[in-house]
Amino acid sequence: MTTTTVVVKKVVEIHRYGSRHWVGDGFPVRNLIPGNSVGEQLSPFLLLDYAGPEHFAPTDQPRGVGEHPHRGFETVTIVYDGVVAHRDSTGSGGVIGPGDVQWMTAASGIVHEEMHEKEWAKQGGSFHAVQLWVNLPSTHKMSSPGYQTLLGQTIPTVELAGGTGYLRVIAGEFRGTKGPATTFTPVHLYDVRLKAGSTVEITAPSSFNTGIFVLQGEISINQSGPVKEAELARLDQAGERITIVAAADTSLLVLAGEPINEPVARYGPFVMNTKAELVQAVNDYQAGKMGHLS
Ligand code: MN
Repeated sequence: MTTTTVVVKKVVEIHRYGSRHWVGDGFPVRNLIPGNSVGEQLSPFLLLDYAGPEHFAPTDQPRGVGEHPHRGFETVTIVYDGVVAHRDSTGSGGVIGPGDVQWMTAASGIVHEEMHEKEWAKQGGSFHAVQLWVNLPSTHKMSSPGYQTLLGQTIPTVELAGGTGYLRVIAGEFRGTKGPATTFTPVHLYDVRLKAGSTVEITAPSSFNTGIFVLQGEISINQSGPVKEAELARLDQAGERITIVAAADTSLLVLAGEPINEPVARYGPFVMNTKAELVQAVNDYQAGKMGHLS
């Protein structure tokens, strides 16, 4: 008989946002990764921008961020409130609203725009979303770009015991339920809602980097905390067990992934392994090799 000891994953640090700025004129964000001292410590997660919640007045001129490139990683947009319309140089496009996720693989290069959807902009309303950047291993940085629209109804929901909340599996797996996203390295991404006073236990492998981001509410993690609204808890790689207790009605994101142990070279919308590859990315973009919006 084998005895397995499941070790608790300790909270290493609780981070506040590092900056507050606008992405284009549509997305007022608080930046958590790389943010305040997080840096590359949550590899493969390169960026977490928390947009809103922000009220937008009705307009006939949709706000957003116009044509811009990416190379070397994936952008993941999770919408809570509002509607985003996307168009890119591969000819793909789509509209995502509350509960939907867009998983875009920039890889060798893409040019796209991210805008408030026209009809939603005419009505105005509350906008609330998260954008993550997920790194690609060097072997996939120059792969063909791709695009996954993960509509809400394709994201499985696991109800937690006793009606205490639920967990949506966007990527990876939770208690045998698999998420729809295809990823290049192992990633678990969960959208979790907990009622005040409830507890949920999750696990992440001991080699993974794990972050828990609280959008709204307040929690403790393995008896550490509190972790409050717009704060990111970074957990130790060691250990597996994560017990989350909600002190208030809470919305949170769990991001756990196998680290990509390669050098990271970043320049604006490009994330490669070396400075020479960044220079190449800028040259390729300027030469039109990442395409244009039609
Ligand atoms: Mn973009």
